[in-house]
Amino acid sequence: MMSNQNKIVRFAPSPTGHLHIGGARTALFNYLFAKKEDGKFVLRIEDTDRERSTSEMSQEIIDGLEWLGLNSDDSPWFQSKHIDTHVEIANKLLEENKAYRCFCSQEETEARRVKDGKVQFFMYDRYCLKLTREEIEERLKNNDPFVLRFKIPEGETKFKDRIHKEVKINNREIDDFVLLRSDGSPTYQLSVVSDDISMNITDVVRGDDHISNTFKQILLFLALGKKPPRFSHLPLIMGADKKKLSKRHGETSILEFKKNGYLPEALVTYLSHLSWSPNDHKKIYDLDSLIKDFNFSAISKNSPIFDYDKLNFLNAKAIKEKDPGKILEILFEDSEFRTKYESTEIERLLSLIELVRPRMKKVHDFIPQFDIYLSDELIYDESELSKLNTENKNLIDLLEELGKRFEKITEFTEENLEKLLREYAESKEIKAGEIIHPLRFALTNTTVSPSIFEIIIFLGKDKVLLRIRGFADFLKKHVFSD
Ligand code: GLU
Repeated sequence: MMSNQNKIVRFAPSPTGHLHIGGARTALFNYLFAKKEDGKFVLRIEDTDRERSTSEMSQEIIDGLEWLGLNSDDSPWFQSKHIDTHVEIANKLLEENKAYRCFCSQEETEARRVKDGKVQFFMYDRYCLKLTREEIEERLKNNDPFVLRFKIPEGETKFKDRIHKEVKINNREIDDFVLLRSDGSPTYQLSVVSDDISMNITDVVRGDDHISNTFKQILLFLALGKKPPRFSHLPLIMGADKKKLSKRHGETSILEFKKNGYLPEALVTYLSHLSWSPNDHKKIYDLDSLIKDFNFSAISKNSPIFDYDKLNFLNAKAIKEKDPGKILEILFEDSEFRTKYESTEIERLLSLIELVRPRMKKVHDFIPQFDIYLSDELIYDESELSKLNTENKNLIDLLEELGKRFEKITEFTEENLEKLLREYAESKEIKAGEIIHPLRFALTNTTVSPSIFEIIIFLGKDKVLLRIRGFADFLKKHVFSD
């Protein structure tokens, strides 16, 4: 494909807040579209609001996108570095009579707007558009403050949205919006259009809440003699209560998801389900397969609902599918964990991950498992013990005798362990569970765990015998002490 035909899209967050679920979904769809079209995905940090933007927040956005794998093809574009161009463009519009100076103070406009308690107009009444050249000169001479307003032309503005299809508005419904504030600083509408032109943006993919801005921006592109990009607006994501996603629904920073034990592939897969459902909802997709399947025509304009249960399901699935080495790498990012286990044989750590992961829902669920399975001594927990049936008065003898039988086996295999346990239960005329449950507790200090045979094999004979003895002692002290 010729480079001048390639699609260039941008994800344009303002670093006045965290990168949230909504923003990350917008970034993902921009990314998928760009890659599908063999185009370019660029991150544009819209940091012109000096008071509310912080460089920490910009960095957090960059880190969040990187964690999701949504890397910008060029280095990030910082809007604040291009203010001169924004202002230049506004002045060009003024020269061409497509914008005008407005000297009205808010009070003056308000006084005209509401007369005798009756609202006379809703949008700016174009009072300053009627000023004569002399009046303007006079006010400039007096250094009267002014803003620069865009003169909305007559007619109708429409565009073909890839999701919403044809969208239009009568220009009478659009305010002569401000391009430059009285301190000379550019407004959002101006900066966006100026940057989209400078960056040769061909397609804009963003939230539904921008549709009213799109009309204004299209008029600006046209006034500047430029072809507007193609626009697509994604429906806003709702919480389970059908209200706009907020902190209450987990509208937290993307990096919080990382901290809370989510895998990026689970989050990316789940984000792709928000409004788009050509794929199997129970599968984990990597970015490459999402790119292959991506298609705007499969995106719905209805608001999707953010559902934690679905995300959690996918996260547990992603944990089951991930390379154990990669899981270990993530666990090693925790310095306390690293210090504790970096000298343990790597094969042992990896096979422990394999052993316990079917039950893991979040990455940090692994951490206590390492203590359970690798520590020399298991500290039993009385509150946990209440979940185990300890009514059998012979429990201690049962366990101790079982230990002796284990001692005699030369090699632990699933087969001989199963045979041993079955025969042992039969000889004692008890159900297998009556010995397996206490044994599980003796070995893991819990009532839920992977298969008992796998645990025994993983721990090895010495540890198994040690734990059986340790648990028998604990029972003597805490349960059968009288
Ligand atoms: N900076 C805007 C925002 O964070 C997005 C602008 C755009 O995508 O055009 O909502």
